[in-house]
Amino acid sequence: GCGICINKCPFEAIKIIGLPEELNTELMHQYGLNGFRIYRLPVPKKGAVTGILGPNGIGKTTSIKLLSGEETPNFGNYDNPPNREEVLSRLSGTELGDYLTKVYAGKVKTALKPQYVDKLPLVSKGVVKDLLSKVAERMTVDEAADLLELNEVINRPLDKLSGGELQRVAIAASIMKEADTYFFDEPSSYLDIYQRIKVARIIQDLSETKQVIVIEHDLAILDFLADSAYLVYGSEGAYGVFAQPRQVRTAINTYLDGYMREENIRFRDTQIRFESHPPRDSQMTAKLLEYGALECDYKEFKLTVDPGSIMIGESVGVVGPNAIGKTTFVKMLAGVQKPTLGELDSQVKVSYKPQYIAPDFDGTVRELFMTANSEFFESGFFESEIAHPLSLKRLYEKNVKTLSGGELQRVAIALCLSREAEIYLIDEPSAYLDSNQRMEAAKTIRRVMEKRGRSAMIIDHDIYFLDMVSDTMMVFEGKPGSEGRATGPYDMRDGMNKFLAKVDVTFRRDNDTDRPRINKPGSRLDREQKERGEYYYST
Ligand code: ADP
Ligand code: ADP
Ligand code: MG
Repeated sequence: GCGICINKCPFEAIKIIGLPEELNTELMHQYGLNGFRIYRLPVPKKGAVTGILGPNGIGKTTSIKLLSGEETPNFGNYDNPPNREEVLSRLSGTELGDYLTKVYAGKVKTALKPQYVDKLPLVSKGVVKDLLSKVAERMTVDEAADLLELNEVINRPLDKLSGGELQRVAIAASIMKEADTYFFDEPSSYLDIYQRIKVARIIQDLSETKQVIVIEHDLAILDFLADSAYLVYGSEGAYGVFAQPRQVRTAINTYLDGYMREENIRFRDTQIRFESHPPRDSQMTAKLLEYGALECDYKEFKLTVDPGSIMIGESVGVVGPNAIGKTTFVKMLAGVQKPTLGELDSQVKVSYKPQYIAPDFDGTVRELFMTANSEFFESGFFESEIAHPLSLKRLYEKNVKTLSGGELQRVAIALCLSREAEIYLIDEPSAYLDSNQRMEAAKTIRRVMEKRGRSAMIIDHDIYFLDMVSDTMMVFEGKPGSEGRATGPYDMRDGMNKFLAKVDVTFRRDNDTDRPRINKPGSRLDREQKERGEYYYST
């Protein structure tokens, strides 16, 4: 096998598979004996946003370290690494060589928004304002705070910020710096869709005069944000290859297709497809639960819920901005939070995956599943419908406390699905997952609900994820942090229209893949669709 597919390669007819010989001359960097190897590197382009798209653990972050000068390419000579002069002479005459020459000469300054914003409070003490004033070069602290809506937290210590707030502080800190090349490593994590689109626009503005590289797993956002993109393929933890850059639409379509024609490389055995029409009303006839008007009043924040009901076998997507009461609603359903007005049927059995997951189990992944529900864990259903699509087998003997963010998320989703329940409440399952894992997780959740006749509510901000996971949609709106109102579940067309009208974006369909694509704001399609009130299903 080539190490790309975990199973026996079904594409033996295809030439490549196995690392092609000719790539050996393009080995850029290797972390020690048998360590991770990276082949080729992306090159930033002036006046454009260059995207990087690929699975976890395949060298995306490493490529940024090499391009920023934080690490120096060793071309595989990890024992006796070349110095910078030798690196430049070896790369001379290439675009990459030209670029690194300027970086090493200090003529290209770089700014980086790191991937793990959760670590920010560990490296930087003090309040938001202190951090930002140290980097106030291109704009003032006030300007940056306005741009990224940080005024409310400007005097708060970093360790008192939510994930979304930390993300916006980190983005602010990097765009405030005076640099030539800006790197954004996963800027959408923890952000709601309003913030994702806003940040995408800010990064685009920046790129008008600068070079920008973005790593991003939310495909709707990457598509909207980037001009071109590099696909990265390879084997997690072993090696990664940067394919040639493609126009962003082609890059994403190729990614969904699973096959790179030019390179003759297949990296997935199935195509990922989208439905251009809303799902038909299915056979869901029996109600699982019904609730009247509800309220939860925390004094500072109040959530109002319109009456609604959930059918047996239904997967409800839950959308809305951050701090609008989504988790509060799910907690009320789970019986963790009592409504201050109205009543909920507490007879319904729930299984809950919280938004913030922490590895507090002492033992291996296998032991964790055995403790939760050994019979289900040992069933063929678990094996084929959950463990296989979520690639869990390689994790069974690992200690839960050593799992990476993406590994822990997949385990947490599977664990939630393993418990016997009538409704599965899954809060932000796409966090930490790469695009492929997101789509696998979405399909897994939906199939398990259909096949086992169970119901689910899934809170998420990734439109492709929501499109794949949801039968219906519940919409939260209001004033984040002070009042929220929940309505629905609606059918997909009505739910998307209600939600996207607030976000003020419309989607069209890609001709080749039927995937949704954000329309350029103010374009003819955007205006026409808004007039017709068709924000999502425009055909
Ligand atoms: P991605 O950003 O695509 O998720 P990374 O570039 O962070 O992936 O990591 C790719 C691989 O390189 C991983 O297997 C990681 O463990 C390994 N790696 C990263 N940094 C180092 C290092 N300093 N020493 C050894 N291995 C490393
Ligand atoms: P979402 O899931 O939509 O991001 P949440 O339901 O977590 O929103 O929170 C909504 C608002 O309620 C936030 O402003 C949050 O700070 C506040 N909040 C959440 N839980 C509590 C609580 N137990 N006591 C007081 N305020 C809370
Ligand atoms: Mg990374």
